[in-house]
Amino acid sequence: MTTTRALRGPFDYRLPEPMVAAGVGVGSLLTIPFGGRRMLGVVVDVAAESDLPPERLAEPIEAIEAGATPDLVRLGLWVAERYCSTPSRGLALILPPGAGTGRRPRPAKPRTERIATITADGVAALRDGQGPRLGSRQRAALAALDGAGAVAAGELRERTGADSVVLRRLAERGLIERDTREVRRVPRIETVGAGATAPRLSARQAAVAAELVAALDGDGPRERLLHGVTGSGKTEVYLAAIEAALERGRTAILLVPEIGLTPQTVGRVAARLGDRVAVLHSGLSEGERFDEWRRLRSGEARVCVGPRSAVFAPLPDLGLIVIDEEHDSSYKQEGDPRYDARAVARRRAADAGAVLIAGSATPRPESWSGLERLELPERIDGRPLPPVEVLDMRDVPGRAGPLHPVTREALAGLGEGSKAIVMLNRRGYSPHLSCGACGTALTCPDCDVSLVLHRGRSVLGCHHCGHTEPVPRSCPECGSVSISRHGAGTERIEQLVAALIAPATVFRLDADTASGRGAHGRVLGEFERADAGVLVGTQMVAKGHDFPDVALSVLIDADSTLRYPDFRAEERTFALVAQLAGRSGRGDRGGRVLVQTLAPTAAPIVAAARHDAAGFLAAELERRREFGYPPASSLIAIELTGPAEPPLIGAGEAIATALRPALGADAELLGPAPRFRRRGRFRRRLLVKTTAPEHDAAAVRRTLADPAVEAAITGVTLAVDVDPQ
Ligand code: ADP
Ligand code: ZN
Ligand code: ZN
Repeated sequence: MTTTRALRGPFDYRLPEPMVAAGVGVGSLLTIPFGGRRMLGVVVDVAAESDLPPERLAEPIEAIEAGATPDLVRLGLWVAERYCSTPSRGLALILPPGAGTGRRPRPAKPRTERIATITADGVAALRDGQGPRLGSRQRAALAALDGAGAVAAGELRERTGADSVVLRRLAERGLIERDTREVRRVPRIETVGAGATAPRLSARQAAVAAELVAALDGDGPRERLLHGVTGSGKTEVYLAAIEAALERGRTAILLVPEIGLTPQTVGRVAARLGDRVAVLHSGLSEGERFDEWRRLRSGEARVCVGPRSAVFAPLPDLGLIVIDEEHDSSYKQEGDPRYDARAVARRRAADAGAVLIAGSATPRPESWSGLERLELPERIDGRPLPPVEVLDMRDVPGRAGPLHPVTREALAGLGEGSKAIVMLNRRGYSPHLSCGACGTALTCPDCDVSLVLHRGRSVLGCHHCGHTEPVPRSCPECGSVSISRHGAGTERIEQLVAALIAPATVFRLDADTASGRGAHGRVLGEFERADAGVLVGTQMVAKGHDFPDVALSVLIDADSTLRYPDFRAEERTFALVAQLAGRSGRGDRGGRVLVQTLAPTAAPIVAAARHDAAGFLAAELERRREFGYPPASSLIAIELTGPAEPPLIGAGEAIATALRPALGADAELLGPAPRFRRRGRFRRRLLVKTTAPEHDAAAVRRTLADPAVEAAITGVTLAVDVDPQ
């Protein structure tokens, strides 16, 4: 038994006979006495005996109906171990919604409603006026119930005016029976435009699907990478594989990137599979999530669609896990436990004997080298991928602004009824401001980053901590009034594009215009319904959407991602360019893709412009091997943060000294290296590169728990990130 709080556990309890008889076992949720308080606990093991003397064993207070299953308990504990977290945090992932979080965690409850049914006496009273006389509202209520089965009290009141007093009177006279029933809280899923019938698979799709079906039947590799260009019909292949799993009496999980960004995929799957699908994501109310969870747990729903947390869906007889857009960074959880849903999916699939499909147009190098490949090299409509033109921004003088002359011309010349997408991975108006006289840059007081000008809101804002301040009229250092702006964000591009295409409309999609539930879908819907116009936005615009009438796509500052000091920069840049190109030329208009960059010869940009994923990945894997980065190694990061810098330096050195001898012979320890200050907190990072990740993760856990190290790190906050992004 372990509690759902951040305690180490497990702790022993005595299970009373009635609870055993009621089926309490591994995975069950119990209320337990713990240090004078009531807490929620999960059964992780049932043993015949305890090491503790019987008089020291307490009994659980009560069993809670909806618990998890033994395989999920195993998975939760594995996550805790693998990602250097605690058992309680690992187990919180697998519990019913509401149980794992909050100050007083307890699972949500089913929603119920009052209902009424007419009795035989009631029918008689209504038909031939026998028995006691009826008031007009009583008569109306009986008439509405006659032949109608159970009717909700709320509905009855709306239709007949019979309120609870009237119903109570009828019940007392034996003319109706009252009861309660559960009402499912049904999440709203946008299925507009999604067909309910499957198209006939193309020969290539059918061949790929056949391989997956064979794997379901135990024939061939169980883990597959489906590499298919955008629009090649991957989603149809997933659906075929899901259907095949269901036909075999098994269940399936479809993981998608952040659900707000992929409403179309969810809608398509829901339209096709109907009530057999449950969705689980944070956009639902807790009640909706709880009801969906229970439908999965009971076997009523057989397919779960959701973002990374759906990998923990309580499905019995799991046959298939699909990871759509497997390159997407949202599969990695940023808070503790910092799990990677792709690794968890592999683990769960292997444990359940299920088939795993990771699909993408731009797979990760890890998947390219680690999984057997299936290919869908062509678009379903037979159209070629659009040509990509790389525009060298070094040829354009700075004062000409952020749009290349070719881009300006293409936007201004958009034909009637044509649409365009312009993507720039930076929101706001201008990302840097500095004093023209003394050169002082305007930075966040709490983070070592530039403040971004937001003209619409007339503020300078920090994109790391949310700090805002009024736009200064003069330099805070020297008082000069010449403040210059550098660079462009979506807000500025929106303004420039609007001037070029007037009177056509510009739609902007970024975290500023699309905050809140459903806002993202609303902006995309408006763009989709418009006769013409340009969609300007951050990478939100490149995710998972089909717009047949988009004739032009523009990527501004394509190398911005390359400037990050991160070994995944190349991979991200390639994916960004390729995904945007993939969004174009879906309809009859063909497509033109313009990529503006200061690094026109950078390998990811050149390869993406040629639609050459295989070439890019081969070279990238070579580079990773050379520098010893994943998949040639695994990484474990230890992040130290604190309000003052000196304790971090001492703590970093102490950890490094203690950790170095504990690591395996092949492991390399880098740092502690300073990272930029954020939210007023200084940061340092140690990085372990290892070819024996399990051994060295254990070494990290042991080192950090060592009392000598613990003493050296007081006042410092530690976080371990296994497989950091
Ligand atoms: P991907 O997931 O690879 O981007 P999709 O599965 O979304 O591709 O397919 C792209 C488009 O082609 C969708 O509009 C889809 O409905 C359509 N499509 C997929 N397979 C077929 C098929 N076999 N016949 C007709 N249309 C198809
Ligand atoms: Zn100045
Ligand atoms: Zn800040």
